[in-house]
Amino acid sequence: FDPQSKLLAGFQILDTESMLGDVQAQYILDDYKAVDGITLPHKITITKGGKDYSSVQYTSIAINDPEAQKVFEIPEAASAEADQAIAAGEYSPVKLNKVDNGVWHAFAYSHHSMIVEFPTFLAVVEAPYTEAQIKTLGRLLEQQFPGKPIKYAAVTHHHYDHTGGVRAIAAMGATVLVEKGHEPVLRAILEARHTDPQDELDKRRNAQPAQPTGSIEVFEGKKVISDGGQSLELYAIRGNPHVDPKVIAYVPSARALFASDIWSPAPNVAAGSANADARHLLYSIGQLNLKVDKMVGGHGGVGPFSDLVKASTGTAKPSSD
Ligand SMILES: [Zn+2]
Ligand SMILES: [Zn+2]
Repeated sequence: FDPQSKLLAGFQILDTESMLGDVQAQYILDDYKAVDGITLPHKITITKGGKDYSSVQYTSIAINDPEAQKVFEIPEAASAEADQAIAAGEYSPVKLNKVDNGVWHAFAYSHHSMIVEFPTFLAVVEAPYTEAQIKTLGRLLEQQFPGKPIKYAAVTHHHYDHTGGVRAIAAMGATVLVEKGHEPVLRAILEARHTDPQDELDKRRNAQPAQPTGSIEVFEGKKVISDGGQSLELYAIRGNPHVDPKVIAYVPSARALFASDIWSPAPNVAAGSANADARHLLYSIGQLNLKVDKMVGGHGGVGPFSDLVKASTGTAKPSSD
């Protein structure tokens, strides 16, 4: 408290951040002004783990503004899905689109995964976004593939939006496949405490007795999961401008390749429009000599490989063959 004004000057609490986990946070309140007879801080500065987190200066504050309340109204078009979300408890939109036999695109709000079906288990490439999304995906997979657990979850790179569901999928028992270059970040994500709110991984680890969870498995350069005629191949490509290394996932039976951030399949691809990330991806696919027909996006949809070729080289070839 400020000794002169007696107003709250700040407070320190334990926050749980989606990536960092539990972290000491300091909130400094300043620039108090009266609003409708209530004295409110107009500047809030936050540090977490001793580092700058945010600093917000409010030009004005309104109390119970009906215009602002409208933001929370659920649009008619989203009403049915909102009911579904409320019933599920934790929910984020996900649907499964078939790519080929045994391969599915888990199409979500903005960050997608690829599902590969094996005779007795599933492998998920990328567990992005949030715990709610991965819990929704888990329920969907249980319905669609009863009795097949998620045995593996592959990480394509360590950016926060593409790893937001890694803890949730580890809580489901999946072994998290991590390339050596991403290991330090992923270990920190997986080992952190998450107590407020407590996430599923933290709950299971700290239950009495502790419940089983998936662990991390580190590979270097290449990893192949193979069972009953189905294979999933993970390759770390080096030198991509987006991130280095970057893992791409290939399913030979479907000639399908999953990549996130470096190529996002979309309609009406213009010749020569690819950026350096996509051009490097095409180069890497060539170096690895992978026979690709379909590109599966961590963003965007599923598109023909010829679109990547067209965008990167200016000429459309039907397939890499
Ligand atoms: Zn990224
Ligand atoms: Zn992304």
